[in-house]
Amino acid sequence: MAKLRRWVVKAGSKMVCDGGPLLMRAWMQQVALLRKKHGIEVIWVTSGAIAWAVSRTNFKKPKRSLPQKQALSAIGQPLVMDQYNLALQASSLLGSQVLLTAGDMKNATRRKNLQNTLNELLLWKVIPILNENDAVATEEIRFGDNDSLASKVAIMMKAERLVLMTDVDGLYDSDPNKNPKAHLISYCPRISKAEYALADRKAVSKVGTGGMYSKLLAADNAHQHGIVTHLVRGDLPSNLIQIAKGEVIGTQVGGRYGSKK
Ligand code: GLU
Repeated sequence: MAKLRRWVVKAGSKMVCDGGPLLMRAWMQQVALLRKKHGIEVIWVTSGAIAWAVSRTNFKKPKRSLPQKQALSAIGQPLVMDQYNLALQASSLLGSQVLLTAGDMKNATRRKNLQNTLNELLLWKVIPILNENDAVATEEIRFGDNDSLASKVAIMMKAERLVLMTDVDGLYDSDPNKNPKAHLISYCPRISKAEYALADRKAVSKVGTGGMYSKLLAADNAHQHGIVTHLVRGDLPSNLIQIAKGEVIGTQVGGRYGSKK
């Protein structure tokens, strides 16, 4: 059997919560197809635990303490997984949950254990669904956002591509909310100062913790390890298959522009 190629795909909080069960089904259908038709296995990174819990508990306070966020993540994580499990079942897939802190990847023994677990799951054709273990992660052992977690996992697992699914089309040459003539940048050979200058460091998503700046950092980190990153809208129902077919959507960082391999 030909060796499978490996991707890491990350879904942002807004996508997970706004898209809900229907979008998750479309994602998992694509995950099944990627393996069957394109020889690509996927490690999935999801956000949305805190945001999902907020919507269920009416905990709308904009300023939340760390313990409050941690408690919300503990409420939301199984709710998000319920939705993933339904979506996985609809595509005859089995999923698994792996919750991580940055410390798990720094410690050599835990890192090796994690690699072994993920490799075994993939061997069994089970989809690993990862999130930060917010219930135990305090500031010092946090990844900060799931973009950073996803790029670190992609590097550790020697992935070929990293797909960051967000609620914008990709990287623009100016703010599309302020400038109607803003252009989507389809391809960056790498992330340089010029690209960083286009993203507001302080602008974070209202729902999740990441923003464009954290995506560029993740893409930059991945690129330094030879991994191609795609920044794409998460709610395009065939986005992953389009990338697998070499169609150009969103912003591609590194690799040969629009190439399948
Ligand atoms: N781990 C957080 C959650 O599931 C989200 C982190 C992020 O937005 O990147 O709610």
